[in-house]
Amino acid sequence: MSANEPGQPAAVADAAAPPITSRDLDPPTVALAVGAHPDDVEFGAGGTLAKWAIAGCTVHHLVCTDGSKGTWDVDADLAALVERREAEQRAAAERLSSQRAGEVRFLRRVDGELEPDVDARIEIVRAIRELRPDVVLGHDPWKRYRLHPDHRAAGLLVCDAIVAARDPHFFTDVGPAHHRPSHLLLFEADAPDHVEDVSATIDRKLDALHAHESQFESTMHAADHSDLGAFDQRIRDRLAGLGEPHGLAAAEVFKRISDL
Ligand SMILES: [Zn+2]
Repeated sequence: MSANEPGQPAAVADAAAPPITSRDLDPPTVALAVGAHPDDVEFGAGGTLAKWAIAGCTVHHLVCTDGSKGTWDVDADLAALVERREAEQRAAAERLSSQRAGEVRFLRRVDGELEPDVDARIEIVRAIRELRPDVVLGHDPWKRYRLHPDHRAAGLLVCDAIVAARDPHFFTDVGPAHHRPSHLLLFEADAPDHVEDVSATIDRKLDALHAHESQFESTMHAADHSDLGAFDQRIRDRLAGLGEPHGLAAAEVFKRISDL
């Protein structure tokens, strides 16, 4: 998320959307989650990543922008904010994955100005080829009527990077060898078709989100830790709503692409 985003819209499939056709991937050995901003991955897939980490998956993170727009304070020291948000992201990754936390990489593009350019794509190709994930997660770049350009750009970058990472003649000097992940899961999905049961990991997702203390005011509408109850309840309600049609106490939903 970033400042002025009203919160991630609930990804409930509407009547015209395709139905959910797949549920609960086998926990992968390695996962790579790519977000536009610090905290996006925790919002979109935190419960799923926490569940996989408990099952033994190494969870890597890559954050595309520096998060420098993530404040409502007009006098904020933005260099200090960037540093703080990177520390928060590292803490969130630890909380999400505990002993299975992998790398946390930062592309440090200017918040709000991310473009799906070749230089950024190469850095994600490098991450895929070096970290060799079985599952890659990212924003759905085709979510209709989404305004935030960074989420759209980050999603496109992930899709484009998978194509380049898997084929040996793309960017031959980048990374140790080409690598083809088995699955791509897109969160904030326009047409979700895959559900993950996160009933057992809601608390871990919330704990990871709480690591983003600089975002309490702008994203979570809370003054401090003691004021997070309403935010937590909104997240719990949303996950319950996503799970209910599938008989789950809580769920995260995705667009799954496995023909990579
Ligand atoms: Zn964001």
